[in-house]
Amino acid sequence: MISQCLICDCQAVLTLEAARGIALLIGLADGAVRGAQNTHESLQDRPGYYSLLNGLAAIVPAYPSALRVADDVGKYQFAGFDCLCPRCGALFDKEAAELVPPPP
Ligand SMILES: [Zn+2]
Repeated sequence: MISQCLICDCQAVLTLEAARGIALLIGLADGAVRGAQNTHESLQDRPGYYSLLNGLAAIVPAYPSALRVADDVGKYQFAGFDCLCPRCGALFDKEAAELVPPPP
């Protein structure tokens, strides 16, 4: 487990897997919101029912584009490295971080 940045000792190191997961989740949530907003329901219907259904139905079609965004995050933000420090922007691999002794 990565505990700190190699440069600034920041404790909040973002791993590639976590960043890809977050990007994928945001893409799917965006698809759901867009699907829910495209609902035209009257006030006599059950409020929000069709919005919820359309939002849920829009998640699966949003998956390919969300996956491409997640892949781009890994490709362009991490540039082949495993870890990114959000504080100083350092990029490094997990193996290098595991060689550093933990703070006292
Ligand atoms: Zn750092």
